Amino acid sequence: MTRTLALAALAALPLIATPAAAHDLEREELFAAQHNAMQDDTAWEILRDLTTEVGPRLGGTPAEARARAWAVEQLTALGFANVRVEDYMMPTWVRGHERAHILAPFPQELVLTALGNSGATPPEGLTAEVVGYHDYQAFLDDDPSNQAGKIVFISNQMPRNMDGSGYSMPFGAPRWVGPNEAAKRGAAAIVVRSIGTDNNRTPHTGNTNFEDGVTPIPAAALAVPDAEQLMRIVNRYDEPVKMHLLLTPRQIGEQPSGNVIAEVPGRDPDAKKVMVACHLDSWDNAPGVFDDGAGCAITAAAAKQIMEMGQPERTIEIVWFGAEEVGLWGARAFAEAHDGTDYHVVAESDFGADRVWKVTTDLGEERKAEADALRAALAPLGIASGEYDRAGGADVGPLRAEGAPGLSLRQDGTRYFDLHHTSNDTLDKVDPEQLRQNVAAWTTMLMVMAGPVE
Ligand code: ZN
Ligand code: ZN
Repeated sequence: MTRTLALAALAALPLIATPAAAHDLEREELFAAQHNAMQDDTAWEILRDLTTEVGPRLGGTPAEARARAWAVEQLTALGFANVRVEDYMMPTWVRGHERAHILAPFPQELVLTALGNSGATPPEGLTAEVVGYHDYQAFLDDDPSNQAGKIVFISNQMPRNMDGSGYSMPFGAPRWVGPNEAAKRGAAAIVVRSIGTDNNRTPHTGNTNFEDGVTPIPAAALAVPDAEQLMRIVNRYDEPVKMHLLLTPRQIGEQPSGNVIAEVPGRDPDAKKVMVACHLDSWDNAPGVFDDGAGCAITAAAAKQIMEMGQPERTIEIVWFGAEEVGLWGARAFAEAHDGTDYHVVAESDFGADRVWKVTTDLGEERKAEADALRAALAPLGIASGEYDRAGGADVGPLRAEGAPGLSLRQDGTRYFDLHHTSNDTLDKVDPEQLRQNVAAWTTMLMVMAGPVE
């Protein structure tokens, strides 16, 4: 968009000067802030440095502890106030060796990776027959006696879409609930097609959970081409397909983790706060650039933009949650220590580094004018108006359940699940221009939600 067009778009907005529920935001002030954010490389620098100097940072491990120390140092250097860590303990799972090969009828290796909380095979691995299903329902519909003692294989394909809706039920079921169900049915192990949209030999890890009383079985995700290969083999041959599987992850018990918190203090200490959040941990197979180094970089860079303009009315609280991937341990610890009703709004960035395309809010009927003001302010950045009764973010979920209003700046997820939870989630995938658009969007959101900056 050219400057002239952008100004014309802004001039056309009826809601920039808004009712009392949302403060008057001058067009020129808003445009200048968005322009500044679109030139700012702070987010890129945070993302580059975190993912270079810390790298992968699985929750509860020494790598995540290094990330916390790094975060405290960086957030302090950026000039934020009250930078601190809130510690907690969490059960911690670590990956071991992982290998699979077909023994018969067509001997060959397959590429896979263990799911978080997977059980382990014996140290020498296990050999069993494979029983394959095209989707989760077919697995459920089959008699458990056909599955006991076997390696269950579910090859469920997720669709690619902009809003990430393919990462939902039923497409995610094989990973989220398949291992637990297969364990209850007596399966020896389970392998699923990666919940991803790429066609690379980079399997997608991710968490799974077993109910109390269910002994975890070995559970892994095959790379998409390897899942397709295995399904061809299963379909081609009437005789049993035999697989050897080696997975040696371990549960190492309760380990220290922590949420990193920083603030831009507001002028009114009694006003409800605005939270911007991300999760600092990543999976162990990549430096976690899209998931979720980008979210931490975007939210901190936007808060810094506000700090450079002056002091907002409300305190902006930056929370880099310590452990999301392996079970929302950071979110739970935070919600226990804080009260959701202390927040004017909470928002999390955890969907990569591509542009924001839609805003949704869940502020309640009485704050409709504020929700509209936000939409009007974001429109010049190419951001569409979405639902008024919806907001996401896994880490802010427990606070939302306690009554915190929420909003979401929805990112374009078209390519997110090509990279998500794979070893390919690396810095080279980031488009700096789209990353800066995110910072402009979050800066705009803070200008509306945190009150006038003076
Ligand atoms: Zn994430
Ligand atoms: Zn993730």
